[in-house]
Amino acid sequence: MSVQAKESPFMNVAQIQAGLAAKSFSAHEVAAATLARIAAIDPSIHAFLEVTEQLAFEQAARIDAAIACGRLDECGPLAGAPMAFKDNMNQKGTHTTCSSRMLENYLSPYDATCVAKAIAAGAIPMGKLNMDEFAFGSSTETSCFGPTRNPWDLGRVPGGSSGGSAAAVAAGMVPLALGSDTGGSIRQPGSFCGVVAVKPSYGVVSRYGVVAFGSSLDQVGPFARSVEDAARALNAISGHDPLDCTSQHVTTDFTANLSEGVKGTRIGIVPAFMGAQGLESEVREKVEEAALLLEAAGAHIVEVDLPHAAAAMSAYYVLGPCEAFSNLARFDSVRYGYCDPGHKDLGTQYEASRAQGFGPEARRRIMLGSYLLSAGVYDTYYYPAQQVRTLITQDYTQAFRNVDCILTPVAPRTAFKFGEISDPTSMYLSDMFTISINIAGNGGMSLPVGSGVQTGLPVGVQLIAPQFKDENMLRVAAALEAVLGKAAVAPAFAEGDAL
Ligand code: GLN
Repeated sequence: MSVQAKESPFMNVAQIQAGLAAKSFSAHEVAAATLARIAAIDPSIHAFLEVTEQLAFEQAARIDAAIACGRLDECGPLAGAPMAFKDNMNQKGTHTTCSSRMLENYLSPYDATCVAKAIAAGAIPMGKLNMDEFAFGSSTETSCFGPTRNPWDLGRVPGGSSGGSAAAVAAGMVPLALGSDTGGSIRQPGSFCGVVAVKPSYGVVSRYGVVAFGSSLDQVGPFARSVEDAARALNAISGHDPLDCTSQHVTTDFTANLSEGVKGTRIGIVPAFMGAQGLESEVREKVEEAALLLEAAGAHIVEVDLPHAAAAMSAYYVLGPCEAFSNLARFDSVRYGYCDPGHKDLGTQYEASRAQGFGPEARRRIMLGSYLLSAGVYDTYYYPAQQVRTLITQDYTQAFRNVDCILTPVAPRTAFKFGEISDPTSMYLSDMFTISINIAGNGGMSLPVGSGVQTGLPVGVQLIAPQFKDENMLRVAAALEAVLGKAAVAPAFAEGDAL
């Protein structure tokens, strides 16, 4: 394998494509180098649940055949770029386990639309990534296959629920990964692992084939080490899909205005977020620094108010479990899922299979949802939570009359140690700044802005866009990245000879 091919795991998409065009290496070599790197370093990180060597080589062969005919341009915007998928995304020929015993043996008979689109755009599929069980969690500790480790400090969590996606990109195993975000599951691990992580507006990416958690909140998005790569990936996976009635006719080129800068751009700061209880000073400082950098680049910083955001957490922990309860009802041990055999009647089979197939956090969400939707209780919780949802959505609509983008913290702190947060309600606070965005349906992303002064661990800032104006946050992110530099591979894994 050529020296350049060995370096390919550290390259961005444009560099890989330039190397392919110049015939410095082939797509086959890119796939081989990526597989070798995963084999060498993933045992210490555990981002991958399955590595799809054969699918990777098949796709690489298609790209190499096109290159041989001088048709690299026709291979799509992600041609030759290795990509891996969160394990709640169906990909034909792979297991889609959602990191749950319930689906341990489930083989996908079809591709999720986001997976199909990424592959059609030329991405080389490398495998499936670890996550919190059914995407319930903020640390990847609820995976029934064991946690993923944060490449910046192997004693700490990568965040969650898309912890495998963030860690795989941060460790330089793949330049691109997909994750899903219901309340913060793309942005919070993005912040903990120091990579670019984008949750688009609800409806930008099809949810078809992604195992549902909260159908009105779930959204798929990319992880990358540069804003441009994330925007390219978003171009590839976005757009209307007749198989998801909530997907929108989005035709935006998310890379188009990345270099336009922020002169005259109005950026909102939310004083209530900056003064929030539990926000660590090293995180707040990074958000303040980002605001100053944007101001120096010509942006106007404006204070905005989100008066109902404080109720977002309560509303989410009603709406989320209710939707999860309904969605997880299909795992009944008959058509889908783990089956505890040998019971004399169906009722006891359901009970035993679901009790053993789901882990404790999944069971907690199911029980919560079942209670909240029961007669008499529904009016007390579910209905008011929907009213709060309307108010939060109106808050964002109002705020975006005065600003083009909002800047906030992603998470109140940097990556925590394994086992450090054991009580569920403290864990839920990880998403205090991200949840209201899912409730309103806006786009939000995490951009790495350096390391915290106390912990030395990565910190991300959150940029929030008006609905279906995701290009706004990407442009602001690109302006910050132009000053701060692109996201780095975690130091311990940054040497090519880690191979
Ligand atoms: N951490 C939040 C939860 O546990 C959000 C998870 C997610 O976005 N999938 O519900």
